Amino acid sequence: MKLVFATNNLNKLKEVQALVPESITLLSLNDIGCFEDIPETAPTIEGNALQKANYIKTNYGYDCFADDTGLEVNALNGEPGVYSARYAGDQKNAHDNMDKLLENLTDKTDRSAQFKTVIALRLGIDTHTFTGICRGTIIQNKKGNKGFGYDPIFQPEGYNQTFAEMELTLKNKIGHRGKAVQQLIDFLQKLND
Ligand code: IMP
Repeated sequence: MKLVFATNNLNKLKEVQALVPESITLLSLNDIGCFEDIPETAPTIEGNALQKANYIKTNYGYDCFADDTGLEVNALNGEPGVYSARYAGDQKNAHDNMDKLLENLTDKTDRSAQFKTVIALRLGIDTHTFTGICRGTIIQNKKGNKGFGYDPIFQPEGYNQTFAEMELTLKNKIGHRGKAVQQLIDFLQKLND
């Protein structure tokens, strides 16, 4: 069975390919000749993941899954959420985004937050979603230089390191994306049984 993973991130693709049943071959957007920007205009993380998976099925005919992630900060009513990538503007700069978030939290005592990844799977006419959540705290100052995005200011619950100070294997094990991917894989394995 061929299944499109709506990404051009080859690291993500390889990582997931190693985990899915052997009978499933994952294809990237490049592999199917999809070079345009896929619309991501939904007001929620779930909506964007579904929009991307449905776009591929409608325009290219392949069964597909797509992911979307956001950081939800409780004291900011879930912001930046679906707008995480461009919180501080269209330049999508991680440091600008973190600076804006730290600024908006200066007078807040509640610094709890969560990363949320939703994977939407489109199989034929059916859709399924898988959600991975990682709870934690936004610390006062950036720490660490691994990872990307908001990693230097996010400290996951139960750890005294930020994601940017952690080895990637640990981040993947306890992180939002890893948890969502594991659910997708469990689902695909059951289909295969
Ligand atoms: P995407 O849906 O995976 O493209 O993620 C959207 C935005 O959320 C990214 O541009 C980052 O700002 C942020 N983000 C997603 N995943 C992570 C993560 O694992 N660590 C830190 N920031 C992330």
